[in-house]
Amino acid sequence: MPPLRFRPHHFLCSQGFKGKGYSEAFTQNMARIVVDTLRAPTGDATEIEVVGSLDDICAPCPKRRGNLCQSQEKIEEIDTRHAKALSLRPGDRLTWGQAKARMKSSVKPGDLSQLCKGCQWLDLGLCEAALRDLLQED
Ligand code: SF4
Repeated sequence: MPPLRFRPHHFLCSQGFKGKGYSEAFTQNMARIVVDTLRAPTGDATEIEVVGSLDDICAPCPKRRGNLCQSQEKIEEIDTRHAKALSLRPGDRLTWGQAKARMKSSVKPGDLSQLCKGCQWLDLGLCEAALRDLLQED
């Protein structure tokens, strides 16, 4: 199976996903990726390739404009902050298990307020709660 393709900020978005999204098609696609694949019993072995722009989560997004995003500047800023925090570069490959270990070692409670500044989902607190759950896992 080819690796999933994630832009940098979608690692933490996947950890935080709780069934909300920009449209029904977007949410169904993200649920297939996150719930059916990454959170399946063998999900930690899923290979993910880091990409610099449009990825498998963006594909059906109503905000997508070709290979760009309606909010391109904001998304690039979020990607840049997440890539730096998680030491991710386009072309890197890692499993979901390795990605979770990277998130655990690199992101602290409260960091999302800066890393995700500008994201419409930030104030819901779901991603921060999911991060805290991850940090408590053995
Ligand atoms: S707050 Fe937004 S950018 Fe940050 S992890 Fe959640 S959905 Fe992703």
